[in-house]
Amino acid sequence: MHTYQSPLDLVRERSPERPVALVRPDTVALAARWFQESFKGEVLYAVKANPSPWVIKTLAANGLRAFDVASVPEIELVAQHAPGSKMAFMHPVKSRAAISAAYFDHGVRTFALDTHEELAKILDATGQAKDLNLMVRLAVSSEGSSYPLSGKFGVEPHEALGLLLAARRATQDLMGVAFHVGSQCMRPTAYQGAMAGASRALVRAGVFADVVDVGGGFPSIYPGMVPPSLGDYINSIDRGFAEMMVHETTELWCEPGRALVAESSSVLTRVDLRKGDALYLNDGSYGSLFDATHSKWPFPVKLIREDGAADAPLKPFRFYGPTCDSIDHMPGPFWLPEDVGEGDFIEIGMLGAYGVAMATRFNGYGDVGLAEVQDAPMASMYGLAPRSIPTPRPESGTVVKLSRARSKKRRRR
Ligand SMILES: *Cc1c(COP(=O)(O)O)cnc(C)c1O
Repeated sequence: MHTYQSPLDLVRERSPERPVALVRPDTVALAARWFQESFKGEVLYAVKANPSPWVIKTLAANGLRAFDVASVPEIELVAQHAPGSKMAFMHPVKSRAAISAAYFDHGVRTFALDTHEELAKILDATGQAKDLNLMVRLAVSSEGSSYPLSGKFGVEPHEALGLLLAARRATQDLMGVAFHVGSQCMRPTAYQGAMAGASRALVRAGVFADVVDVGGGFPSIYPGMVPPSLGDYINSIDRGFAEMMVHETTELWCEPGRALVAESSSVLTRVDLRKGDALYLNDGSYGSLFDATHSKWPFPVKLIREDGAADAPLKPFRFYGPTCDSIDHMPGPFWLPEDVGEGDFIEIGMLGAYGVAMATRFNGYGDVGLAEVQDAPMASMYGLAPRSIPTPRPESGTVVKLSRARSKKRRRR
């Protein structure tokens, strides 16, 4: 991977035709060390947030060698780039073939489930193995999360009694409970609430859990979504754990995805056309910008121009991606100098989680380059940049002037 001092250096040297993922491995190293020092238990990286080999290698090189995987390709990826790591297959619905491959070919012993049927499948596909760690996925409230994950998986705690008992009886190794409070969780107390619910379910079933897995959900920073500090989340989990009815030996696990990688990457795109306040870019919804379309997240942006000039007053823009689908639209608003136009490069920040990971090849696009840059991310939960993203305001008069110009044009027609 080529390294550049800054995105501007890359633009000057290469003027890239394709979008380029700009990655900052040091931010992942710092986040990995922060979680291992602050979280009082085992930290598993949720691979789906960003499965890039450089991420897996950076985590492993910084002591994080446990991974939450959801498919055989993710298992193979971890086996290749962080050999010898611990893996937990935390998808509650798996094929028999995937369970067997995980167990027999890759030594995976930890499996999640939220039904009796899945438990039976796991036991069958592992030849009634006795050394399984079985994690019962509970449904918990997604209140306070910007990206709820409660719709699809998890058994309601008040209906979990039979399943907790069955999982407890099925293994001589670890039995645990797991949940996910929802991604980009803005409220630290969500963890404490979920742990209280898990504790009640365990007490009602009369079983002790060997593992309490508080899942992912740890936030990053996006415009309009500046969360409390990560220390507040750790404190909520500490309080929640202290209040649970568990053994002294019960282990605490977490599965951060977003928080470990979000600030590590931005994407360098190019403007191929401007139509009024719409910029047509070479990356979009089917590329790295899924959340900018489907969740309407107004990611932070910077104009990168070869001559360095980017000092015109700011104005709000919308983006269109390169495919022919009209859903390939990102409403923003994205604040950029008002003279932005064809040939300019735009760096879109905070795309390390669920960004490049989501890119498809639809319509012949989605081929993203890769380069390392050494500047700071646009915002940081770990002190590398401000813990906020300023929402720009146009210089007074700018918007008025522009809208007057537009209305004049309309009157002329
Ligand atoms: C997606 C996922 C995670 C990671 O969630 P983040 O919000 O990115 O931290 C963790 N655990 C499970 C089971 C997941 O599906």
